[in-house]
Amino acid sequence: MGSARDPGAVAWPDKMITQAEAFAKAAKWPVYVDWESLGTGVNGIEVTLRCGKCTGSCGQLRRGGAVYNGSLDEMLSMVLRHMVQAHDVALNTREASASGT
Ligand SMILES: [Zn+2]
Repeated sequence: MGSARDPGAVAWPDKMITQAEAFAKAAKWPVYVDWESLGTGVNGIEVTLRCGKCTGSCGQLRRGGAVYNGSLDEMLSMVLRHMVQAHDVALNTREASASGT
């Protein structure tokens, strides 16, 4: 535990976007859940939230018996991060709307 590959919790970028703004932006983004068997039984599965546009991983939801990012808040944060990193979606809508663009 504690390595860079641990899924862990996703930090909320609250300086750039509020949760309400983020929800408005990310709510219609297509996502789906994918899973992979790493062993036997329910403790041997890894569950990933994937992007419906590029099938890339947004983040991990479960590895074996451990649940990660189990709240909607965390999932929203993962989807947002993916939108920014993989699809160049701008998060700074507050600045954009304030300047009239
Ligand atoms: Zn994607």
